[in-house]
Amino acid sequence: MISVDEARERILSEITPLPPEEVPILDALGRTLAEEVRSDVDIPPFDNSAMDGYAVRAADVEIATAEAPVVLEVLEDVAAGYVATNRVGEGQAIRIMTGAPLPEGADGIVMVEFTERTGSGVNIFKGVRKGESVRYAGEDVREGEVVLAQGKLLKPGDIGMLASTGRAAVRVFRQPRVAILSTGDELVDVGEPLAPGKIRNSNAYSLAAQALEVSAIPVILGIARDRRDDLVEKLEKGLEADILITSGGVSVGDYDLVKQVLAEQGEMLLWKVAMKPGKPLAFGIVKGKPLFGLPGYPTSSMISFDQFVRPAILKMGGRKDLLRPEIEAILDERITKKQGRRYFLRGILERRDGELHAKLAGSQKSGALKSMTLADALLVIGEEVTLVEPGERVTAQLLYGLP
Ligand code: AMP
Ligand code: MG
Repeated sequence: MISVDEARERILSEITPLPPEEVPILDALGRTLAEEVRSDVDIPPFDNSAMDGYAVRAADVEIATAEAPVVLEVLEDVAAGYVATNRVGEGQAIRIMTGAPLPEGADGIVMVEFTERTGSGVNIFKGVRKGESVRYAGEDVREGEVVLAQGKLLKPGDIGMLASTGRAAVRVFRQPRVAILSTGDELVDVGEPLAPGKIRNSNAYSLAAQALEVSAIPVILGIARDRRDDLVEKLEKGLEADILITSGGVSVGDYDLVKQVLAEQGEMLLWKVAMKPGKPLAFGIVKGKPLFGLPGYPTSSMISFDQFVRPAILKMGGRKDLLRPEIEAILDERITKKQGRRYFLRGILERRDGELHAKLAGSQKSGALKSMTLADALLVIGEEVTLVEPGERVTAQLLYGLP
């Protein structure tokens, strides 16, 4: 049995990022940038007004007050998208809208709230500093500046930045295709009637959903019966994918099918990890593709996916941050465990009196899926620990961000 950290390291050493592809920028949301993006322009591209108001010479309105306004001549009105035709000289102003280019000669904007139009003139009730309410060219981004680093997970602001820098398409890492094969004579697919002794193939769907959550493309291969031939034949169909996953058939005393096929068809690199749930994990390479033989129990398979397949997908997809964010939480209950394995407990987090607390989400059995639906974190209890008392701090791996 090897440790979770050793297993993850071993697995990740076999994984390399997929080649990039070019996609329209809106399709790049949630994808990982495969290139460095520099701006082709200054942003903003020209000095412009940050407010609706009057473009003035700051020196002209220095002494303006509500009681003794300065009167200026208004030369023209300029809206966003247009360029003023006049130059602002002494005693003059131009009515200006937000985003319109700063007229020549002007060096500040008086907000419209501090003005009163009087036909061909305007009363200014308040002075402005030089540069006030002006957005200068290049003040946000300089031409040639790196605006998005390679390896960045693209968020809505990044898509806007790509548009600002004139990019209609961008290179992102290809999304891994993850083929998922469920094994077991007892399985029926959803929508099929349940017969005595049969259970629904839920793993295919929870694992596919976990793949989707990290922007991979799941390919559900269906169910292989507990026969070598069926498993080999159905696995074959998955070889076009980038990652192969099986669930079930890896426990000792079971048919040990996946292990056997993995050893026959490829190279088995590891088997059994010191964790709970999820000990019976097999990992190897079949025809150049990484294969994860996940345990069959619904939560064991999900947590094994979470700890090993998820970082592998992220690495293939070009991501640098492969692990879940962790936070400390105060445990509200007592936990006893055996030494030697790392526990991943399904936990519920709650903020109380300014502190983050954690409690168990219900049954921690490997087959219990209900507690998985209630959990917002995996509480990690170290290999050597045998007892955690209420009030002690534990590490929580956040499944969906902070509650
Ligand atoms: P196995 O690892 O094949 O011995 O599977 C362990 C247990 O996990 C089985 O007895 C089933 O109850 C359950 N199981 C296996 N595969 C699935 C699946 N695809 N969906 C839901 N439960 C499963
Ligand atoms: Mg089975």
